[in-house]
Amino acid sequence: MYTCSFCQSNKPKQRFIAREMMFGLRDEFNYVECANCNSLQIEEIPSNLEKYYPANYLSLELKHENRVKNWLKLKRFDNSFTDKGFIGKIVKKIWWAPPIGHFLKIANIKLEDVILDVGSGEGELLFLMHQYGFSNLTGVDPFISTNKNPKRGLNFIKGSIKDVSGKYDLIMFNHSLEHVVDPKEVLLKAATLLNNNKYVLIRIPIVGVYAWRTYGVNWVQLDAPRHLSLPTVKGIKELAALTGFSLDNVIYESWDFQFWGSEQFQNDIPLHDKRSLWFKSKESMFSKKQIKDFKMKAEQLNKNNDGDMACFFLRKL
Ligand SMILES: [Zn+2]
Repeated sequence: MYTCSFCQSNKPKQRFIAREMMFGLRDEFNYVECANCNSLQIEEIPSNLEKYYPANYLSLELKHENRVKNWLKLKRFDNSFTDKGFIGKIVKKIWWAPPIGHFLKIANIKLEDVILDVGSGEGELLFLMHQYGFSNLTGVDPFISTNKNPKRGLNFIKGSIKDVSGKYDLIMFNHSLEHVVDPKEVLLKAATLLNNNKYVLIRIPIVGVYAWRTYGVNWVQLDAPRHLSLPTVKGIKELAALTGFSLDNVIYESWDFQFWGSEQFQNDIPLHDKRSLWFKSKESMFSKKQIKDFKMKAEQLNKNNDGDMACFFLRKL
């Protein structure tokens, strides 16, 4: 029987067929829209899901940056976390990154807070935060390498949130909740790990917004079959209420990817194609002017609460 991953309604509205287009395998998958909250989820979880997470899957690679690049990233993070620092401000303008520092600031996070990152990958964000000065960080991911060197104040657990114990002041899902089989079960577990009045941050692609309405199954963030469930704001709000949280804030953080990635899919160009803008290809189908317009349009959509990615602030009641 169908059950919506978010609002738990049993009423499906309609089905869509989406293709695997990150690697261009073009295998087809059915997705179902919920009649109550309009969230989307895969109809059947593929038994061979690991086929779709090859070694070059992006979130599992840890980039080895040179010192200058690393320093610039720290400056950028600092500006986003403190709203101060001229160099960081400039770096932020020319070298875009998700404003995670800003989200931490809004969640009132201190350097000494106990923080869990669920689906941390190899820990790129946690290594940066550790260097910045956060002193109690844990990453959990089923796919991380087992031979990670623990550092003082930075630990990794190979597994799922079910394998985590202790109490936390912040739990982050940075583009990981869309990959789990049962978001409700995961949030119920998160509630047991979180201190009262503290936040779960869920950064996730969302449906019901401009990119989904415009591109449908060619929307790049549908990312079949890796994204098992994609919520609407209503879906997250109802799931929060069911799991002991209040949805306090939603910040839209979409970028130009929603346009060029989806336009590429419409033209049958996978993300990992040699013509793809993903690799900054010179053979890309877009002019500089188009990319500039996409960036401006994404900013506008975020202002209108219509971008295709958001950060949800769920406070534990
Ligand atoms: Zn629903």
